[in-house]
Amino acid sequence: MFIDTHCHISTEDYDNIDLIIKENKENNVDKMIISGYSRNTIKESLKLIDKYDCLYATIGYHPSEADITTEDDLNNLEKMIQNKKIVGIGEIGLDYHYGNENKNKQIELFIKQMKLAEKYNLPVVIHSRDATQDTIEVLKKFPNLVGDMHCFSGSIETAKIYISMGYKLGIGGVVTFKNSNLYQVVQAVGIDNILLETDAPYLTPEPFRGKINSSKYISYIAKRIAQILNIDEEKVGKITTDNAYTLFDLK
Ligand SMILES: [Zn+2]
Repeated sequence: MFIDTHCHISTEDYDNIDLIIKENKENNVDKMIISGYSRNTIKESLKLIDKYDCLYATIGYHPSEADITTEDDLNNLEKMIQNKKIVGIGEIGLDYHYGNENKNKQIELFIKQMKLAEKYNLPVVIHSRDATQDTIEVLKKFPNLVGDMHCFSGSIETAKIYISMGYKLGIGGVVTFKNSNLYQVVQAVGIDNILLETDAPYLTPEPFRGKINSSKYISYIAKRIAQILNIDEEKVGKITTDNAYTLFDLK
């Protein structure tokens, strides 16, 4: 049994969400945590968790929304996280990949949402791209928070810093890519620090790279991790599921 701790489900990407959920279940994906990261996707996530028992959500404004997110949006976010099936805040964080001209705005939005997580004692799901140092600086300001470093792809050293601060690493399809060094991180941190995620519809694992992703492919990620750690796939499923239950306080 698997939990996909980070994926996006939206009618923008999938014609038939009933079918996607059915296929996921047929492939042993028991629960999925969907991520709403913008006004529209947050709204849609709330509708979906209401409709499907197996779905939970984390919501929060992604750094790409930093220029357009208003105080009203943040006030609405605070109201929306009162929903019991909202299990965390995210994905929030910093993304300097396409430039960091608005880095102060990104940091400000990130900190405001970290404060919200602290106020309601919720775990955070962090998106950090080409912004490791600044991300660490922000996380340090919130020593009581724990969370998920979603789609982790940094060095072993960075991984150990995040883990020491109470974060798990979200490992997805990238670990199956032939040119990825992520296996070294997996080896160094071990299964106790890992959460499985697909980040669907993006980052489809091998051998389906290039197709649209969905949670049904999660076993290919688990298989690769099992191979790297020389343990069986079932154990990868069990421990990463336990890790997800604990972090997101799933019932
Ligand atoms: Zn994502």
